[in-house]
Amino acid sequence: MNDAFQRKINYLRISITDRCNLRCVYCMPEEGVELSNHEEILSHEEILRVINSAVMVGIRKIRFTGGEPLVRKGITSLIERVNEIPEIDDIALTTNGLLLPKMAVELKKAGLKRVNISLDTLSPEKFRRITRGGRLSEAWLGVETALEVGFDPVKINAVVIRSFNDNEVYDFAQLTAKMPLNVRFIELMPIGVSDLRGRDSFMATAELIEMLQNRYDLVPEKVAGNGPAKSYRIPGAMGTIGFISPISNHFCADCNRLRLTAEGQLRPCLQSPQEIDLKTPLRGGASPEELAQVIRLAISSKPEKHNMEQAGWAGNRRCMPQIGG
Ligand code: SAM
Ligand code: SF4
Repeated sequence: MNDAFQRKINYLRISITDRCNLRCVYCMPEEGVELSNHEEILSHEEILRVINSAVMVGIRKIRFTGGEPLVRKGITSLIERVNEIPEIDDIALTTNGLLLPKMAVELKKAGLKRVNISLDTLSPEKFRRITRGGRLSEAWLGVETALEVGFDPVKINAVVIRSFNDNEVYDFAQLTAKMPLNVRFIELMPIGVSDLRGRDSFMATAELIEMLQNRYDLVPEKVAGNGPAKSYRIPGAMGTIGFISPISNHFCADCNRLRLTAEGQLRPCLQSPQEIDLKTPLRGGASPEELAQVIRLAISSKPEKHNMEQAGWAGNRRCMPQIGG
């Protein structure tokens, strides 16, 4: 279905939990986010009902996210069941990778084809700091396992933070030379209650590209399924480098997505606090068509663009794990 700005909305990102086994400083406060009660979170059956209605309005791609989606019990069987819905042609997962060594084989068997792994630094000490206690070796084993079991592509998402990991862009670029990884640098967004609220932490894509171009040839490349990322390859490299620039280069004109929070609220836009309640009709016995009607309403109320720059950190106090980043 098209929204009011003639954008075709075919992608649903579903947060299946607001829980996480890390505490990244740009994502959530040290004590974690206020967790929803178990009963508040949509069950697998409810998520499947949403997806079945979503395909009626044209959703073809599903991404599971969170919080950390792999801490949710039964995610493998959920993926297996989504994989049986013929209209869904793409199932993806965004994860911090920690549980992949244990779960990658079963996830692959269940029908998951590709994963995005969030990894902001290649330094064990910085990884511990940015995640407030995580071990890089575990996340890295997740990356290696993802490649070993044959997820394709394996994307690495790195949020760039000035004076923290900006000097690592070359190391990440080098990774793409020798490993078939799609590394994507993401601009820090003013979302949630973070330790990195100062404007000083933000670094725009243009500056990163300039840094990399001083050292490498960056050849533009089209990477399928790379959404809003602009992608390049260093000649001869096995992988690619991408840039996701929600702040410096609005990609809202090409937005094709809708979000579902773990508590069953539809979010037409990542940044806007507007939410459309899907849980009440879900739990009130709504029919598939009635649910589809609510999804249509959410699609038609997508704003033209976000206003993160103007709103700043004050504008959005729900953290990514609550929204489904
Ligand atoms: N736990 C999983 C993970 O880390 O991949 C999935 C959920 S996490 C909220 C999804 C993505 O949101 C991660 O890549 C994370 O880096 C990103 N993210 C969280 N807060 C952000 C912020 N303020 N600015 C930019 N990206 C952010
Ligand atoms: Fe957890 Fe992902 Fe947020 Fe890090 S970015 S705290 S791994 S939800």
